Amino acid sequence: MAADILNSVRAVDCHAHLSSSEFEVDRGRVIEECASKGVLVVDSALSKQELKTSLEMTKTSSWVKTTAGWEARNLDREGALEVIKLIESNQEVIKAVGEVGLDRYWVRDRNLWSKQEDIFRMFIDLADRLKKPLVVHSRSAGRACIEILNSSGFNSVLMHAYDGSVGDALMAAKKGFLFSIPPSVVRSEQKQKLVRRLELKSLMLESDSPVLGPEKGVRNVPTNVFVSANTIAQIKRVPQDDVLRTTRETSLAFFGIMGGKS
Ligand SMILES: [Zn+2]
Repeated sequence: MAADILNSVRAVDCHAHLSSSEFEVDRGRVIEECASKGVLVVDSALSKQELKTSLEMTKTSSWVKTTAGWEARNLDREGALEVIKLIESNQEVIKAVGEVGLDRYWVRDRNLWSKQEDIFRMFIDLADRLKKPLVVHSRSAGRACIEILNSSGFNSVLMHAYDGSVGDALMAAKKGFLFSIPPSVVRSEQKQKLVRRLELKSLMLESDSPVLGPEKGVRNVPTNVFVSANTIAQIKRVPQDDVLRTTRETSLAFFGIMGGKS
């Protein structure tokens, strides 16, 4: 990444789904908007098709970076293995493995949980093998994810849109786990509590576009990370610029994007 572009990065959206079909119609315009507001977007591709789209975006704009994983609720092991092969063959451009993880909100049948954990472990092994950080989805499964990660000894972890207990989050943060805060923090008591209790150095900004926007049911966009930054600043009683600067440095370092402190 050219230093001049890096200098104009004001905020990093560490987790968005611009490669999803919801952005098919106006992806280019959304990326332009990010560039004009200084928002570097880390896309999260969840399938073969999305990974293809994500890699194309990184070729056409230096404002987009790629991470690639697998939707936690998708139990198609063969499909996951295909994506693993693709991640391996594109490892020079892929910044992290993820999002991957567990989803016990959509997968409520306990008989399927070991299948889901098995796929999660395949991706933890992949991140370990490729020496990449891991972006983790843990819907209704915060503690279960943290336990699996602890047992694997893997610490280079970003818990995105974490909905578990603050106590578990604090223990994970001590091990160096990071937590990204979506714009839905404006309407989520749990996320506000998380922000209050975790140190600023453990936080990142995410949009999780197209979901988790400030307003429920309205398509979310990466530039809404400023809403997250503003809310964090208010809760922590620090200037918004401090939040933007700290989360930016943490994000660039985590993803190994040139210029970030390591
Ligand atoms: Zn996501």
